[in-house]
Amino acid sequence: MIVTRFAPSPNGPLHLGHAYAAVIAHDLARARGGAFSLRVEDIDGERSRPELAAEFAADLAWLGLSCDGPVVRQSPRLARYAAAAEGLRRAGLLYPCHCTRAEIAAAATASGPDGPLYPGTCRHRNLPEEGAAWRLDMARAMAQAGPLEWFDELDGPQLARPELFGDVVLVRKDAPASYHLAATLDDATDAITLVTRGADLFAASHVHRLLQALLGLPVPTWHHHGLLGERDADGSWRKLAKRRGAPSLGDRRRAGEDGRALAEALRAGAFPAGISLMPVLHGEP
Ligand SMILES: [Zn+2]
Repeated sequence: MIVTRFAPSPNGPLHLGHAYAAVIAHDLARARGGAFSLRVEDIDGERSRPELAAEFAADLAWLGLSCDGPVVRQSPRLARYAAAAEGLRRAGLLYPCHCTRAEIAAAATASGPDGPLYPGTCRHRNLPEEGAAWRLDMARAMAQAGPLEWFDELDGPQLARPELFGDVVLVRKDAPASYHLAATLDDATDAITLVTRGADLFAASHVHRLLQALLGLPVPTWHHHGLLGERDADGSWRKLAKRRGAPSLGDRRRAGEDGRALAEALRAGAFPAGISLMPVLHGEP
């Protein structure tokens, strides 16, 4: 059976781009008789506002998107993330890093999907573990896993290229797991068979596929969909994430707007003036 999820972070209210992503995840599951769930990625420290989980559930109901099962949260799963990281550490695949963002930016000679590419400064330095971030030794991890493939429903078979990210952080200094580690483990725990998300996270799937191999997790299929965006005056595209002055889904719900009609419009590709699907980008440098 197909299982999808919508997995927003509770750092702020949902907006139109979230609604579009939720409609896609929901409809792909329902069209194939599968299940759809809501997962709240609430381990982002101070930025996380757990009270938004109830808002998100209400937003989905307003859009006419029914969820199966209870709302899943990341915060009760910290031990699972820690155990996975410990396993990788024992296998000699993680190392502690004390670099700051500014130090990495200054030392980097290339860039990856997330910005300046970490140049491996701490890889063989055997630094103290206290207060460190933990990075994956990418070359060693790839050598252990061997060549890997994954499949995107829209883009077809992909050869995994996690090296695009260099030695990614799996355990953050300020959070018990990075997005890559937590999302990969959660999708396995929740038995997600079809991972839907925006095309801006396409490259992240290279890393997630590697983590699945290293951690012995099941491999889902992916569906990276287009993102809603708007064009700046200079013609460049901007993700809809924090559109200036646009009301949130919660604002629109409380104002009495018809959420099901909004979902129908998104399905039909009828977007508000100035908003359209951005040209597909796969997050590669
Ligand atoms: Zn470092």
